[in-house]
Amino acid sequence: MVKKYSYIVSFFIFSVAMNMQAATQINSLKSVYYHPSEHAADVKSIELGNIIFYFEAAQRVDLLSVDKVGQHERRTFFFPLAQAKNDDVRNMVEELANISSKGYSFKLEEVEKPLKGIRLVIQFDPALMGIAYEVIESYDLVKTSIVFRFNNKDFLNTLRNKGDHVLRLTHNSHKPRVIIDCGHGGDDDGALGCHGIKEKDINLNIGIAVAYLLKKKGFDVLMTRIADETKTLSERVNFANSSGADLFVSIHSNSAANDTAVGLETFSVVPSCVHQATASLDSVHLDLILEHHKSRLKKSRALAHSLQASILTTIRPIHENLRDRKAKQAVLLVLLGTVMPSALVEVGFISNPAEAARLNNKRYQRHMALGICRGILNYFDEIAS
Ligand SMILES: [Zn+2]
Repeated sequence: MVKKYSYIVSFFIFSVAMNMQAATQINSLKSVYYHPSEHAADVKSIELGNIIFYFEAAQRVDLLSVDKVGQHERRTFFFPLAQAKNDDVRNMVEELANISSKGYSFKLEEVEKPLKGIRLVIQFDPALMGIAYEVIESYDLVKTSIVFRFNNKDFLNTLRNKGDHVLRLTHNSHKPRVIIDCGHGGDDDGALGCHGIKEKDINLNIGIAVAYLLKKKGFDVLMTRIADETKTLSERVNFANSSGADLFVSIHSNSAANDTAVGLETFSVVPSCVHQATASLDSVHLDLILEHHKSRLKKSRALAHSLQASILTTIRPIHENLRDRKAKQAVLLVLLGTVMPSALVEVGFISNPAEAARLNNKRYQRHMALGICRGILNYFDEIAS
């Protein structure tokens, strides 16, 4: 326990020291999202909700006060010198100005005095939940994401009693439950590729084929969309977190200004980039949370590698030169917000004429789907248990 804390403290000293010269500069809040995790009674979720902030640069979080309001605890956090990047972001902040859910409520606002910044006041029932947050740095250290999590104490107590078999705790079904998320859709075309191809259509065709293959293998499959419909990123995360799923796989197609770019890449949140910070939890619960997140992130990374390898092996017999752009780190919302192991596949570049034509071909789509399905099967065989 002591070791973990000293690690956390030294990380913050390190990050503060690194940003000394930027200490008087305004940091832009690029977006903020709230996921309430309203799960059904037969589903257990480790979280009762989370709030995700994306900042342009490294951002400090101060805990200003902790006080009691009746049975509830109130914690006031402050992001010094943070400011909404533009009116769109200001609207996002205003939409979350006053949120109340089962067992907790929070207020979010931009303030000018005594110091410019963004204030987050969380009031919650400590018998039902504990607050913790994590700071995630991208490799380039330009972007910082901060995730506040409302941890479900009921779930933590079950974990404490049953050990690490988290996956089988989340729902009653005996089959593994997998979410297939076909990127974009409806009003959102995603990338526009060569030959008039739209990303949303490629993603959906492949995703439907993956779902079909997984169902044949006995999996319980849920899709965030099954047609050309508009779904926000937060709606996808809420859907996944409310369903008690064991795994989340998102399918996208790439696009680049340089039309020679080709190849396959898979993203996940990498454990080494995530730094857990202060929590309103006792040390036993905090340990469980830290273990759980560490295990989830390791599984996410392993899932990304499994998908990448299986797709390459499945596609190369029909397209020998499929370029391996590797499994990589990303802090995309569907990966940060979901509570189960998750990865995002970029199946290829529709901005490249030859790759676009392949991705639009039904046979190639079926092979891609088979590769993704094999990656998921391999994950459950080798990694999940
Ligand atoms: Zn996309």
